[in-house]
Amino acid sequence: MLNRILLLIIVLMLGGVLAFFLLKPGLLKNVMQDAAGVPSNLIFQDELPHKVETWKGSDGASLEAVLVAADDKRVEFRIPATQRVHFLEMSALAKDDQEKIKGRVTKWGIDGVLGYPVSLRTDPWPNGWRIDGRVNLTWNAKKKVWSSEHFDLRNDAKVNQETLETVAGICESVDGALKSLPLPLDWGREAKGRRDIILEPAFKGENKGKLAGFFDGRTGKVHIDTSQLLERDNQSIVFEFDKPKKRQKYDAIVHEVTHQTMVSMLLLDMPAWIPEGMAEYLSAMHFSPGNYQFHTSYSAVRYHINKRVQAERGIKERKLHLYEMNEFMGRRLKKWNEVVQQGDVAGLLQYNMALLLVDYFFHADGKNGEPMRYYLEAVLSGAPEKEAREKHLLRGRSYHDLETAVFNRWKSVGFAIDFESNPRIEKEDFTVDWGAISIMRQNAANRARGK
Ligand SMILES: [Zn+2]
Repeated sequence: MLNRILLLIIVLMLGGVLAFFLLKPGLLKNVMQDAAGVPSNLIFQDELPHKVETWKGSDGASLEAVLVAADDKRVEFRIPATQRVHFLEMSALAKDDQEKIKGRVTKWGIDGVLGYPVSLRTDPWPNGWRIDGRVNLTWNAKKKVWSSEHFDLRNDAKVNQETLETVAGICESVDGALKSLPLPLDWGREAKGRRDIILEPAFKGENKGKLAGFFDGRTGKVHIDTSQLLERDNQSIVFEFDKPKKRQKYDAIVHEVTHQTMVSMLLLDMPAWIPEGMAEYLSAMHFSPGNYQFHTSYSAVRYHINKRVQAERGIKERKLHLYEMNEFMGRRLKKWNEVVQQGDVAGLLQYNMALLLVDYFFHADGKNGEPMRYYLEAVLSGAPEKEAREKHLLRGRSYHDLETAVFNRWKSVGFAIDFESNPRIEKEDFTVDWGAISIMRQNAANRARGK
């Protein structure tokens, strides 16, 4: 079950904080303390004032802004009044301020860069992204791994070369797909450094048969249970009629590798729906190995949500019980974890809601996910998360207004959503699509006869 996988990730999160930040000595203690977005000291390493300062332009105008990052040519500021992030050419500042910033770059910068710049994207939302050709795997005899461009795969499961290439392709594709989205998702990542994928024959102990994969925050490795990757039941393959050839559990690889890619974002104390919703979004849009389609958002999201329950039946309409927006949008991983522990359904509905929220902000709120982009830019540059949320995601709307917006997005395309304090899945929530089932049965029969 996905939610069990995720529980494990969350349990391992604290270990992950250590593993990741021990690479940067001296930063760790602060990471745990600042709940509001980016820990200021993570960026400025104690010495820099992570606060509003008054800067002067070369034309004499003054600017109230927080210095986010700089090198010797460009400066990134966040304007608290708007909680927007902007780049300025160094030359646009008065000489005194240029010297002041250059001094900080020299003193605290790493490789000539001060702070952690947030990339500001303006490109349109892509229709899709697909991996270009086959992935080249080479055997690294010393490490005993198969290496692709960015990943080292340890084939404990002894899967065949074709499967290995497929898995490597999926891993490589996650970075490509994330980079194709006009959001600052590469924030805080170390560009270098290879990533480990462990292909296991089958998980043992309490994970046995329950997990298709998990991301171990302590080691940064993704583990995959290869016995769970291949669909055993031909019926299920037939019923995945919108996504032919897709093996059902490949989306678990995409989910876990998304966490591995976005680990620095995962480790910030952001609301849990953002990292989890991103991982679910990418899984849902993963159409076939290494191939993402972002323009079929409705059907891909609906399919992804419904296949976890009663996957063997065609579902026409579904009443979907979700959490109250007000509380859910601020819910942190600690609470998320507690809900997952309450049981499968409560946990699962969190992933469903996270996906619906991310889908809404990417595809239905503003153009090219702009408000969501501004929100992420603000939070990653150190703005208090709640303030950034109100400024960019709510924009004067109430949480009830947002519930209505998400309700309206889905009301005529398969989900009647109820926002509740204690949501459940009930048998009566589903209307079966007998027409689709009859087509699926026909297809199954045809395949069985070799047609
Ligand atoms: Zn997750």
